[in-house]
Amino acid sequence: MAEMYDIIIIGAGVTGLATAMYTGRLNMKTIVFGATSELELPIGGVITLTDTVENYPGFKKLTGMELAQKIEEHAKDYDAEIKEEKVIDASKNKNNFIVKTEKSSYNSKTIIFATGAKWRQLTMKGAKEFKNKGVHYCALCDGALYKDKIVAIIGGSDSAAKEALLLAQNAKKVDIIYRGDKIRAEPINLKLVEKNKKIEVITNTNVTEILGDKMVNKVILDKEHNGSKELDVNGVFGAIGHIPLSNIAVKLGVKINEKKEIMIDRDSKTNVKGVFAAGDIVDSGFKQAITGVGEGVVAAHSAYQYVQEKE
Ligand SMILES: Cc1cc2nc3c(=O)[nH]c(=O)nc-3n(C[C@H](O)[C@H](O)[C@H](O)COP(=O)(O)OP(=O)(O)OC[C@H]3O[C@@H](n4cnc5c(N)ncnc54)[C@H](O)[C@@H]3O)c2cc1C
Repeated sequence: MAEMYDIIIIGAGVTGLATAMYTGRLNMKTIVFGATSELELPIGGVITLTDTVENYPGFKKLTGMELAQKIEEHAKDYDAEIKEEKVIDASKNKNNFIVKTEKSSYNSKTIIFATGAKWRQLTMKGAKEFKNKGVHYCALCDGALYKDKIVAIIGGSDSAAKEALLLAQNAKKVDIIYRGDKIRAEPINLKLVEKNKKIEVITNTNVTEILGDKMVNKVILDKEHNGSKELDVNGVFGAIGHIPLSNIAVKLGVKINEKKEIMIDRDSKTNVKGVFAAGDIVDSGFKQAITGVGEGVVAAHSAYQYVQEKE
């Protein structure tokens, strides 16, 4: 008979890795799947995109990659298996779950979804045409290309502000273009943005088109800025939110909300018995590394109790 895992964790971001550390400590036979192809991100997930994390308790300042690696190492200390495989399906038979990856099939008593979310792609004219030719979604990955150049960030979240601060380290000028009244950054990041002479925030404005030759050279705005609807830029970075990766959970009968986020209770349980979820994939209002890790740890404990009660 195929090997039986106590728990399969789908997603190897900080949430999935921290969950694995806990289930490992609880002596649960644990495997984590992380699809590096899904988001074009390494094991560690989306936190690896930022070069400064200053709000994870216990570490005053470290890079996202360092944080992810520390949690991964910690999980491995408790014998969690971590595999770079993409999960393509999950189903339930009478007593257990069957999880199919691109390479193989695995059995488990419980599942935790920690699949995070995909960047919402920009949809204005030119966004697709110029992808990776001036249109990007990750400042840490592609920001260095814009040394002494002008870049625009489209979006108004805290992530958008952090991306702008990162880009300003290399770029000559950074325009944050946001359709709302004011950007919604953490106060500390907002202050840094306001203080940074290279960053300008253009509010109540949409980009309607991205133009260029071989590479991006300007964007068209839906209203005038400094007397013109044309803004010269060399690069455009999208920071307009995420689409939760909940499709496989839905196939298992897991309930999602209107944003496609998995709905969980305070024990990180979904509506399907034996299925739990945590992190950027769930319906919590505040999404950070620490909140994902916290929900993951609760999910680990709930999964442990579920297995104990069944046996
Ligand atoms: C630019 C930026 C800066 C940020 N800065 C901070 C900060 O300073 N502090 C902070 O606390 N938070 C920060 N955040 C938020 C934080 O990064 C996230 O809330 C957190 O990392 C989410 O972790 P996660 O594990 O839930 O999801 P993710 O990191 O998205 O991980 C999900 C993983 O699941 C994998 N996956 C998805 N589908 C499948 C599948 N079918 N099969 C296998 N694997 C799959 C993905 O490949 C991915 O690796 C920042 C976010 C961004 C974008």
